[in-house]
Amino acid sequence: MAKKNFVYDRLSRRIASEERSKAQREAERMRQEFTANVSHELKTPLQSISGYAELLKGGMVKEEDVQQFAERIYSESQRMITLVNDILELSHLDEGMEDMVREDVNLYKVAVSAVSSLEDEAETADVSLELTGQDSVINGYGQLLSLIVYNLCENGIKYNNPNGSVKVDVSDFKDRAVLTVNDNGIGIPLDQQERVFERFYRVDKSHSKEVGGTGLGLSIVKHAAAIHNGDIHLVSVPKYGTTITITFPKKKDK
Ligand code: ADP
Repeated sequence: MAKKNFVYDRLSRRIASEERSKAQREAERMRQEFTANVSHELKTPLQSISGYAELLKGGMVKEEDVQQFAERIYSESQRMITLVNDILELSHLDEGMEDMVREDVNLYKVAVSAVSSLEDEAETADVSLELTGQDSVINGYGQLLSLIVYNLCENGIKYNNPNGSVKVDVSDFKDRAVLTVNDNGIGIPLDQQERVFERFYRVDKSHSKEVGGTGLGLSIVKHAAAIHNGDIHLVSVPKYGTTITITFPKKKDK
């Protein structure tokens, strides 16, 4: 009997160690892929900036086109800043938010401020943005929860049509808080609904670029929701719109 236990112990230790090294290899592969993607994503706008600046420097741009070139340089550099901010946010999440403390956060109040900071963007896109719901307090990181609501609402605006709408709701239940962001925009094809949460994945790269996307917004949402043990549910129909629901448990422990 003792021998049997000994063999069983060794076997399970070996399996556990093989699984650990498999997970390490997978994490390493993902890190390498991420670094390659980051380099590529940063290189593209940098090359444009350098190209436009070179033309300006060499006096190759007509006087009347100078303004337009300056605008391109500005928008490409803005794009790089957004990208670097998103990357920093992700690495902060990867590090486990050790520098921050969990506290009681009212998700509804977080939504009020995220929605109000997106009002101009919604107006420019001719999309209505409205918030309903009630106070609902969960234990977590205010800054991250705010990023979740902001990114989801911003996507609802960016991937919408003129005259479209984005509806945000926070509902309170005894044991959970539920955030729902619904839009009647362009929707996501069924076969890509899983993939949109991957880092740098975009359904339509040129549309995402046009509207100032980095391909990192939903991966930040996924990561930040996981830190709060939140459960994400996505329903989307192309041409009809998208609804993303995140259910956050209220209890403090894991
Ligand atoms: P991005 O910065 O490109 O917006 P995200 O990670 O936020 O990156 O989203 C990934 C991709 O998922 C987007 O490029 C877009 O194609 C698609 N997507 C995200 N949200 C929506 C939405 N509400 N409606 C339609 N498509 C969306």
